[in-house]
Amino acid sequence: MIARLERKIRRVIWPEQEPELADAGRAGEVVIARGRLFVATLLALPGIITWIRTPHALQGPVGIALALVATCVGFPILRRAHRGEGGTYLGLSSVILDVTLVTLYQVLLMVGGDAESALHSRITFTLYTLAITVSALRYDGRLVRIAGVIAVAEYLGLIAWANATGHVFDTEGHRILGSGLRSQMEYSIILLTATALAAVIVDRAQVLRLSGIRDPLTKLANRGYFHERAHQELVRTARTGRPSTIAMLDIDHFKSVNDAHGHAAGDMVLRKFASILGATMRASDLVARLGGEEFAVLLPETSLDNARIKLESIRDTLRDTTITLPSGATVRVTFSAGIAAWPDDGTAVLTLLQAADERLLAGKRAGRDVVVAVG
Ligand code: GH3
Ligand code: MG
Ligand code: MG
Repeated sequence: MIARLERKIRRVIWPEQEPELADAGRAGEVVIARGRLFVATLLALPGIITWIRTPHALQGPVGIALALVATCVGFPILRRAHRGEGGTYLGLSSVILDVTLVTLYQVLLMVGGDAESALHSRITFTLYTLAITVSALRYDGRLVRIAGVIAVAEYLGLIAWANATGHVFDTEGHRILGSGLRSQMEYSIILLTATALAAVIVDRAQVLRLSGIRDPLTKLANRGYFHERAHQELVRTARTGRPSTIAMLDIDHFKSVNDAHGHAAGDMVLRKFASILGATMRASDLVARLGGEEFAVLLPETSLDNARIKLESIRDTLRDTTITLPSGATVRVTFSAGIAAWPDDGTAVLTLLQAADERLLAGKRAGRDVVVAVG
């Protein structure tokens, strides 16, 4: 009971990130990085106009300076995001950057003696909210929560600092609007609400994305996602020049399992087979159910020989595995596999799958329960 509650709380505070969502998160990071540069350029314009019309006012030069900082830091972030580098750390640093730039704007105004603009500016508050909601594009609930917590912490820290240094009073000694306890509570509640909303959006988007790329029965990747990821991996392979391997696996005489024990039992066998396959492969390998009782595995940076050894070890594991069905009956299954390697057997996903399939068929003809890597 307590353990379940603990798991629930942990899921709310710090949800686990599914590895398949990393691609979508990287694409989101590119959109955010482009948006940051665009908004920084746009926000420099009112800064320039303010500077021309009221040269003594601080908002103009401070706004321009921060737009310049956002642009200078924004370009390397965009480049890294484009290359798919940095992962969660890039997301984390760009979340911190966005929120902190807003706080910095307020700090600079305050230090420059314009506490009223700093504490009572609607634009800075809107930018905090924007930084939080836009973080949902990273498909990572943890980064959304971090954005919200940092925004509230920086905002409250700023007010505390303004209180401690007397910046909360105007020249006539009146408290500046927006610096009182009520405003702090209201602003914090709105920022936390924006965070919760963005977290729910991420949650929904994750469910949708995962249902589009996973096979519902086995929870392995589906055919479409396998092709997409395998293509990306082969592009990377072409850059590094290290061989990669694709294997196709097909359960032997699977129809007889269905015929003898029913379709539900067949489903159970498929799930068990998928879990053995998933548990044996490395995190960097991609395991997919292509359809029916056919599976594919992509082994990046693995030679044909090493892939064969790996699949043969799975074959041995499966030989020793007895699957007990709900009826009490037991089933054992074997599989046949064909392996093809980049670049000797082809350089495109479809060509490699075709080569692997031909070897798989040769294995079937040779009597099944075999891994074929040549021919
Ligand atoms: P082979 O050794 O030549 O591969 O023989 P096989 O019986 O495994 O192959 P065949 O293509 O003749 O039969 C595949 C069977 O897989 C037929 C189909 O009913 C069953 N099947 C396909 N998808 C599912 C599924 O999602 N669940 C279940 N239970 N069975 C499935
Ligand atoms: Mg089969
Ligand atoms: Mg088949």
